[in-house]
Amino acid sequence: MKMLIGFEVHQQLSTGRKMYCDCPTNYQEVPPNTNICPICTGMPGSKPLPPNERAVDAAIEIALMLGCEIIADRIIYIQRKHYDYPDLPSGYQRTSLPIGLNGELQGVRIREVHLEEDPGQYDPTLGTVDFNRSGVPLVEIVTEPDMHSPEEARKFLRQLVRLLEYSGKVRPEAGGAMRTDTNISLEGGGRVEVKNINSVKGAYRAIKFEIMRQRAKLERGEAVTRETRAYLESQKITMPMRLKELEEDYRYIPDPDIFPLVIDQARIRRIKASMVEAPHLREQRLVKQYGIGPSVANVIASERELANLFEVVAREVDPKFVATWFRTKLKKILNYMKLRAEDVKFVPEQLIDLLKMIKSDEITPEQGELVLRELVKRPGDPHELLLQLGLVRVGRTELQAAVAEAIRTNPEVVKDYLAGKQEALHFLVGKVMQLTNMRADPREIIKLLRAELGREG
Ligand code: ADP
Ligand code: ZN
Ligand code: MG
Repeated sequence: MKMLIGFEVHQQLSTGRKMYCDCPTNYQEVPPNTNICPICTGMPGSKPLPPNERAVDAAIEIALMLGCEIIADRIIYIQRKHYDYPDLPSGYQRTSLPIGLNGELQGVRIREVHLEEDPGQYDPTLGTVDFNRSGVPLVEIVTEPDMHSPEEARKFLRQLVRLLEYSGKVRPEAGGAMRTDTNISLEGGGRVEVKNINSVKGAYRAIKFEIMRQRAKLERGEAVTRETRAYLESQKITMPMRLKELEEDYRYIPDPDIFPLVIDQARIRRIKASMVEAPHLREQRLVKQYGIGPSVANVIASERELANLFEVVAREVDPKFVATWFRTKLKKILNYMKLRAEDVKFVPEQLIDLLKMIKSDEITPEQGELVLRELVKRPGDPHELLLQLGLVRVGRTELQAAVAEAIRTNPEVVKDYLAGKQEALHFLVGKVMQLTNMRADPREIIKLLRAELGREG
């Protein structure tokens, strides 16, 4: 069955000040209703400041990263969007007309990017409102309905999250999770908008649920009407909300208290000159420039700082070798330690030295991995870490003694090996590695074992 899926994604911008006043934006760290003023609480007669320049710059940069054309040298009104809810004391939310239009991300058209402001936080159970969040700048990204399955939609959202993270202009997930309104329609049915979704996983589940629900209705011959539903995270279902308000009901008018935005070409040039390369473009460039595979490039480009580190290291060491180490070792260690690349404390030179030591066979990959783990935990010169870990390679005599001991203490395994079982040899190699505290080269051990056992057999 044909389906269309489109998103309206909201994310808080990481400015220090609110959109139309000078109140700070650290709303989660302070007691309720302390970061407020007459402007962000909509007191009659209060005069908003001009739009926060940093927020406008951030929205421009995000729109550019999404391949949008920026509306330049033309008036962009800040509109009042009216609705009645306790979190909105003025009775309207300020929302700009598009700042960017007609972008594209991974085959999904971006209809527009504009600025909004967050309302306060209403607790319906207690009946209280905290206005600390009122006026925190938001960017809203609206897509065309270009996704055709829950998986495609999830993939797009992941790409978008990565792009927003890369921009460095949005609040980190923990602070200001992305909020998405998801629109879903099946062939022959009306469009349903699902609100209250604040994670990629939530969007995926809500879409799956909606498809199931709408399909069942259509199959029974019932109509799927246009409506707004809410996603209930705890039950993983959607519920009717209110009849979809028509655009007219918001009574949009340009805000007479705010001078409209005009973005000039010089401003766009300045932002372009210093902006971050979008992650999907960077991924493609990594493949071309360094001759690495698309899947490893995807891992490296997953975080901006990881890609930055890669590019510094790949200037000094064979890029393909570096890429393999990033994917199979570094990324695993970081995941295991729940670290992001930006948290890493070692300097690129230390990683360069280490990878050079491995590449030139000065140390084995096994030693290298142990040093890398230590480097992540406790940055230092890799040669010194090697010494401190007691990982200096064993001498020939000591290694031969360990091989002899492994053979002597495992007669059954030796018998298996001589009977043709290859796994038995791996077991013995493991034993020797244990006996030498990982300070030997497994390839050398195999040679020695073969020589020894060959003689015995
Ligand atoms: P509205 O006027 O209600 O805001 P828009 O046309 O602006 O509607 O679209 C809002 C969102 O709905 C966009 O993200 C868009 O991709 C999506 N959308 C539009 N038409 C459909 C459809 N037929 N099925 C699913 N999503 C749709
Ligand atoms: Zn304020
Ligand atoms: Mg709309």
